[in-house]
Amino acid sequence: MTRILAIHAHPDDIETLAAGTLALLTSLGHGVTIVTATAGECGSTDADAAATARIRREEAAAAAALIGAEYRCAGLADLAVFNDDAARRTITEAVRWARPDVVITASPSDYHPDHEAVAALVRDACFAASAPNYRTGPSAALDGIPHLYFMDPIGGRGRDGSRVAADFGVDVAATFEIKRQMLERHISQMRWVSRQHGVGDHVASMEAWTRRRGADFGASLAEGFRQYRGHPYPRGPLLQEMVEAALRTV
Ligand SMILES: [Zn+2]
Repeated sequence: MTRILAIHAHPDDIETLAAGTLALLTSLGHGVTIVTATAGECGSTDADAAATARIRREEAAAAAALIGAEYRCAGLADLAVFNDDAARRTITEAVRWARPDVVITASPSDYHPDHEAVAALVRDACFAASAPNYRTGPSAALDGIPHLYFMDPIGGRGRDGSRVAADFGVDVAATFEIKRQMLERHISQMRWVSRQHGVGDHVASMEAWTRRRGADFGASLAEGFRQYRGHPYPRGPLLQEMVEAALRTV
């Protein structure tokens, strides 16, 4: 069994961008852990921050449970994720706690500042996690740097609006219904996304995006990923091999 950590900024990001792939991986017998850096407590106009955080943690845990994944919130503040010393230690502790072979995180270029900060934090935490003298909390250092991948940005576009290409796609037609159910667990976000993002139907928007990525790879529904290949991170195609027949390249 290979261990996969999916880590992003807010509850519902992972469900939108990678849940089909995560569902496929658990169906193949691999272990998946889902971590959000924040509880997404700013994602509401109806409830205060404490109530929103409580609701969104429960929604994220319910979504993760649909694929037998464990969920944890790292407890950073929504709209206040920065690549600083304290946050790097917090995220490194989360990586050590999950003990992953593969880490899948946010796109380095994305519409939301927390997404971009999480991408940098997770990249650096994967390096720091195997340095025993770097102290973070109760979890032991990792034996090595995990394989690191980036999800698509929201809508496939970076912060400047330009398209971001994926290295490869994962055909998620077989697991799309589970992906849909996972996003539907985020009931609190349906009104928020309508108001703040002008997206009337959060689930339909996710489906439209998954279909667009599918078209890029000759599939009906797909999720795109890029592998981080900087020194000294592992460059072997571990995730690509794990998804087996669902791997799509152009
Ligand atoms: Zn987000």
